[in-house]
Amino acid sequence: MMNKITILGSGTSTGVPILGCKCGICQSKDPRNNRLRSSALLELTSKKNILIDASPDLRAQLLRARTDSLNGVIITHDHADHTHGIDDLRAFSFERTSEIPVYTDPHCMNSLTMKFPYIFQREKIFAQRPILGGGIPHLELHPILPGLNVVCDEEFHFFSLPHGYGSTLSFIHRRLGYIIDCVEISQEALDFFSNAKLEILVIDCLRYDPHQTHLHFDKTLRYIEMISPRLAILTHMGHEIDYLDIINQLKRRGIKNVIPAIDGQSFLYS
Ligand SMILES: [Zn+2]
Ligand SMILES: [Zn+2]
Repeated sequence: MMNKITILGSGTSTGVPILGCKCGICQSKDPRNNRLRSSALLELTSKKNILIDASPDLRAQLLRARTDSLNGVIITHDHADHTHGIDDLRAFSFERTSEIPVYTDPHCMNSLTMKFPYIFQREKIFAQRPILGGGIPHLELHPILPGLNVVCDEEFHFFSLPHGYGSTLSFIHRRLGYIIDCVEISQEALDFFSNAKLEILVIDCLRYDPHQTHLHFDKTLRYIEMISPRLAILTHMGHEIDYLDIINQLKRRGIKNVIPAIDGQSFLYS
């Protein structure tokens, strides 16, 4: 038995195609150029299912993955493309009486509490008037600090990496590395990632040109070379990246351990 990660969405914040965009990639007939917003699912040998981020496309993504239960959720940071599907977790509260734990850093805990008061300030909001109708997601926030943390009885090593005015949690779980939405990787994190003998590294790769808040192709490839995982999977891609074109670019450079993600694809790790 092995652990499994499924890329639920490999797109940047707009998704691909972008609404109304007439570019060749948004108009492409190749389904590998269709990218939902960034989420992933871990199905562990311990039988636990852990969701990474709650993208606005979450319902469609979990239907496609045939997920019928979740034991926990990790939120990497508070941006809309990683959090605004959180209400879809409601469906998992119908059958269970306990709260689903949501693990994130203290800044994001605060931000989620302000953005979704009906979920995270439930006692206050519904103190005078009971909840009527379809119910709300029953979620409970748990703080993550950089370093070793226990998530659903499994050890995860977290790192806080710079992303715009804030930061994003990246992590190592056994032989899996996950690095999303960051503009660079600190030396300390790089040391951990490269010492972890990763089988799978999922990593941010927004586009070919440099960007203010994200890794871009050349920078992503430099980091992959330093970390040297068995297989690296590029994700959080925008409409600048055509699936076949990026495959050809990797081939021309003689790079064999890097592939672009396709939505719905799964990978095993020990
Ligand atoms: Zn994002
Ligand atoms: Zn486009």
